Amino acid sequence: MKRRRRCQEWSGFAVDIQCARLARHDGSHGASPSSDYGRHWAWSDADLDAITVLPGTVWFHETPAPGPRSRAFRVCEWVARALTGAGFWYLSGPLCAAVYFGLATLLSVRRPHFVDVGRFTAGVFLVSRRNFPPIFAFGFTRYGPQADALRSGLQIVFGPVSLMVCALLPRNEWADFQSRNAERAAKRKAAE
Ligand SMILES: [Zn+2]
Repeated sequence: MKRRRRCQEWSGFAVDIQCARLARHDGSHGASPSSDYGRHWAWSDADLDAITVLPGTVWFHETPAPGPRSRAFRVCEWVARALTGAGFWYLSGPLCAAVYFGLATLLSVRRPHFVDVGRFTAGVFLVSRRNFPPIFAFGFTRYGPQADALRSGLQIVFGPVSLMVCALLPRNEWADFQSRNAERAAKRKAAE
């Protein structure tokens, strides 16, 4: 069977998706978020960020279905991890095993996870394929896209996974944001 190749173009930064048409297709690039979705995003090489939504499903037939891995797979994964961890413990002690466990768990992340604590948020997520990162990177996160925006936290990239701890808003804006939220909640309550 002849294997059909997929178009290798990715959309611009705003919505980061790979074209789901066949390689060397005519016209604009396009992709649907799932195989049964009746619409697709389309974009052209001229302007990667100008994305339009059009009717019709565009889905590459060999795209693996996104979703959780099977239970058997996860059990095998955990058994393999436990055995490897035990091996590390036996050879180099508990610290080495703990580091191994941390990295193995981190690299098995497939969907973003975030936890908010007051003004701060911490999370792990997969780095966009299009901006594929170096093996290890470390840097500050900022409040805005401008180069002189204030630093808001730290980000570590390890392989395809990024760890981030940062503030959602600067301290002076946070008080404002809280009071506006409280106002809105009060109004909603009054309307009920
Ligand atoms: Zn394409």
